[in-house]
Amino acid sequence: MPLRTLCSSCGKDLGPREAGTGPFGVCPNCEEHFNRQSVQDMVKFLETLAHPALLVNQDLRVVAYNENCLRNLCNGTPQPKGLLGGEFLGCQNALLPERCGGSVACLDCAIRQAAAQTLRTGKPQRNIRAHLTRMEGNRKVRLELLVSTDKLGDLVQIIVNSFFTVMEPPTSA
Ligand SMILES: [Zn+2]
Repeated sequence: MPLRTLCSSCGKDLGPREAGTGPFGVCPNCEEHFNRQSVQDMVKFLETLAHPALLVNQDLRVVAYNENCLRNLCNGTPQPKGLLGGEFLGCQNALLPERCGGSVACLDCAIRQAAAQTLRTGKPQRNIRAHLTRMEGNRKVRLELLVSTDKLGDLVQIIVNSFFTVMEPPTSA
């Protein structure tokens, strides 16, 4: 059976997966909905930052991100608005049946915790150490990050203060 891409939000089948793309997409209807959540002024503000930055909504779905984020964390490949944070960043745990945020591993996801905390309390979090494992090309890498979160209206801004990748040893699979 060919692999399919599904809308991360409503589950709609978006067709066969193109080579090199992930299993998650966002259908045009859902993307329009998420686009409306990213206020233009906030998007402009993201571009003034010297670091990769993204905005997530209350469900921790990415509604905006800056050019720096696109270049440095997305390999220059534009991502649809509305993906869950881990889907957006290519986290391996997002590929589990429980999806991003639902697996046991997600319980100690520092990015998720920082964003959820800021959402709940309104208080910023600073230089939180986080990591995730993802594929970059054919290589499995561990991405180590320091992130800061701020509440912006109903949304949370996540700034990646620094990041570096560590190659994972190859697995025979
Ligand atoms: Zn959809």
